[in-house]
Amino acid sequence: MYTIGFVSEIITLEEHKILNFEQQISELVYDSRKVSLPEESLFFALTATRDGHDFIPDAYSKGIRSFVVNHITPFLAEKEDVNILIVKDSLLAMQELAKYHRTQFPNPIIGITGSNGKSIVKAWLTQMLSPDKKVYQSPKSYNSQLGVALSLWNLQASYDLAIIEAGISEPGEMDNLEEMVQPNIGILTNIGIAHAQHFENKKAKLEEKLKLFKRTELVIASSKYISKEELPAQASWTSWGVEETDSIQILQQEVQGNQSLLKLNINKEVVDFIIPFTDEASIENVLSCISLLIYLDYSISIIQDRILALKPLEMRLQLKKGIANSSIIDDSYSNDLASLKISLNFLQQQNQHQKRTLILSDMDGLKENNKLQHKLVDLLNTQALDRLVWVGEKYAFLEDIHIKEKNLYPDTSSFIKDLSNLVFENESILVKGARIYQFEQIVERLGLRSHGTVLDINLNALTNNLMVYRSLIPPHVKLMTMVKAFSYGSGSFEVANLLQFSKVDYLTVAFADEGVDLRMAGISLPIMVLSPDADTFESLIKYNLEPEVYSMRFLKEFLLFLQDRNIQDYKIHLKLDTGMHRLGFFPEEIPEVVDVLKKQNLVRVQSFFTHLVASGDPNQDDFTKYQINTYSEAAQILREGLGYSFIRHVANTSGIVRWPEAHFDMVRLGIGLYGVDMDRKLENLEQVSTLRTTVTQLKDLKAGETVGYDRKGVLLRDSKIATVKIGYADGYNRRFGMGVGKMEIHGQQTATVGSICMDMCMLDVTGLEVREGDEVIVFPNVMQAAKDVGTIPYELLVNISGRVKRVYYYE
Ligand SMILES: *Cc1c(COP(=O)(O)O)cnc(C)c1O
Repeated sequence: MYTIGFVSEIITLEEHKILNFEQQISELVYDSRKVSLPEESLFFALTATRDGHDFIPDAYSKGIRSFVVNHITPFLAEKEDVNILIVKDSLLAMQELAKYHRTQFPNPIIGITGSNGKSIVKAWLTQMLSPDKKVYQSPKSYNSQLGVALSLWNLQASYDLAIIEAGISEPGEMDNLEEMVQPNIGILTNIGIAHAQHFENKKAKLEEKLKLFKRTELVIASSKYISKEELPAQASWTSWGVEETDSIQILQQEVQGNQSLLKLNINKEVVDFIIPFTDEASIENVLSCISLLIYLDYSISIIQDRILALKPLEMRLQLKKGIANSSIIDDSYSNDLASLKISLNFLQQQNQHQKRTLILSDMDGLKENNKLQHKLVDLLNTQALDRLVWVGEKYAFLEDIHIKEKNLYPDTSSFIKDLSNLVFENESILVKGARIYQFEQIVERLGLRSHGTVLDINLNALTNNLMVYRSLIPPHVKLMTMVKAFSYGSGSFEVANLLQFSKVDYLTVAFADEGVDLRMAGISLPIMVLSPDADTFESLIKYNLEPEVYSMRFLKEFLLFLQDRNIQDYKIHLKLDTGMHRLGFFPEEIPEVVDVLKKQNLVRVQSFFTHLVASGDPNQDDFTKYQINTYSEAAQILREGLGYSFIRHVANTSGIVRWPEAHFDMVRLGIGLYGVDMDRKLENLEQVSTLRTTVTQLKDLKAGETVGYDRKGVLLRDSKIATVKIGYADGYNRRFGMGVGKMEIHGQQTATVGSICMDMCMLDVTGLEVREGDEVIVFPNVMQAAKDVGTIPYELLVNISGRVKRVYYYE
């Protein structure tokens, strides 16, 4: 641990004001919402998408007193009790600190980069090395400029080895990462297409990645991806691949059931490995692992055993529905302080239940490490937790954790045996355990089962997309996000919790009921209701939902209602019809609206808006301009008539991208948030939802036989047919039948055969590598799928039936 005085010597300062040079610093904080040990925290005001300087008061209110800033803020200038370090660039300052800390680490560091597989190789290496080494791995996907600095900060000399992931999205980033990590050994997992758009070509991207290996003694990589000339001169190379010159040569590779057999030539010795996976990506990742263990002098027989024990690993935290209306956060694959913090943070974001339970296992190294024990106690004491279930040794320090209800168990099976005596209902439950505790057994008992078809919602992608659109609008423009229709099929409070945490300004639903559901789930953001009805006025008021007001009839009805209840200044959103001809006042009605509004104080116009009918269609740009102009004029008249200002908003997703002049005071983000880029203009949107199902049965059929109802699917050749568990009741449209629907199994394309049934359909998998139980991606390309059945992605997404389980994950 460093003192602030010491930190001030390590980083390049412009100026400083230090009250207490001896103040200990153990935590680096950049997000004022994520504070666990305020006294020992150093807050870095970063200026990425949002200006961290704006969050200094919040950090201060949570007890943080030490700050690294680019400039002094009025708030800080007034405070007497703070340490302030002023630097040119606060991110660079954090990196300087991380770099210094890294140079204090005496043992080898393995740096991993590549387009895919970084996290999995990191996790597998940890699994394989842990029986005899103390391994540090950078948490989750902390692989960016910021993430790597934070990962390095957590390094401690007691580790035998550290594995750090480095990811880049733009040219020029790797030099900086290399400076910090200074890896001794480098692993290049693979080179794919991820992030390719910023790079001129594959070669430029590869060159950038290889910069991580500037001073490594060894590089592990396939000869598929690089050649000797491309490597830095000082590095030796363990290459794997099919070439005779490869250090590890693949002689034979074949699938046997649900395993693969790999025959390798290692130092002129032929060795067989059984690998518990069949997909190409996993095999590549295993080859990286084998290469490193051989370099570290592990015997072949130990490597064979440990490879066989590898588990397909979910490197991610999942939120799913649990028994008795509970929510389960499943993070049962690793346990250390850094990842526990991330998961607890996610637990605190859940507003849907009052009660929060943590089921936690013992941690590696906890027994011997007093400091770690203190940190754990401090961390848990800052959390709003109602119950702790502890599985592991009964340490004395557990007494110091102030949580109302504590249940201690020596091991997982005794906890499971006692489950019938415990009540879990209406609560959020974080299940966080080290792998050896096999907490997946607990999740299995507390979670609701899914029936083979699941909609995966990637919350990281959602956050990413939010940032992408935020970066397109000026900072003063507010962001309204559309969560109507179950958030375009992605879920209600689960998505809203994240949006609330991400500090969007407004949520919008279609009907009052949807708003009520969000309020019941603890969402406190302002909510606009697009299509309110007179019979829901009561719930609007009760749940503080703000209606769209679209006609004189509706306005008068609402005013009468408010008068009856003696309510004043209720917020409403006036809708103008500039061409959609759905709901809204015509521009010529605005003077009359002003007249009515001026005579009362029951409602107040919170916002005034219109909807663009074809913001994404270049052929209609003249009409869009006409709409924007009409709106502007009407807004002017309304503003002058009312004598006060209101939020003006026009742009939906395509409007945000294509019509900067329509951003006004707020934008309404819809489909883009969910990762569908209707305009095909944005490079860094990520797909949010993936509909997955499974193969239930395989059949070999002869040419001339038929598949499905009415004998519609006539086979023209001998065929292999797979039945999968999705049908039109799940929202898989019947128009996808007869080969129109395309699905994907391990990256292989297949098409439907015959008609779509209610709960199932059949795929033609002739000639493909498919087994029963295999996973199937239903919409490999949702834009194309929509086109194939003559609709738009919106419809496919919102039609995914409620009976399809949603699983939210977060890395
Ligand atoms: C649905 C909706 C939006 C969002 O549209 P996207 O095209 O999904 O961005 C914006 N405004 C209104 C009034 C809507 O109904």
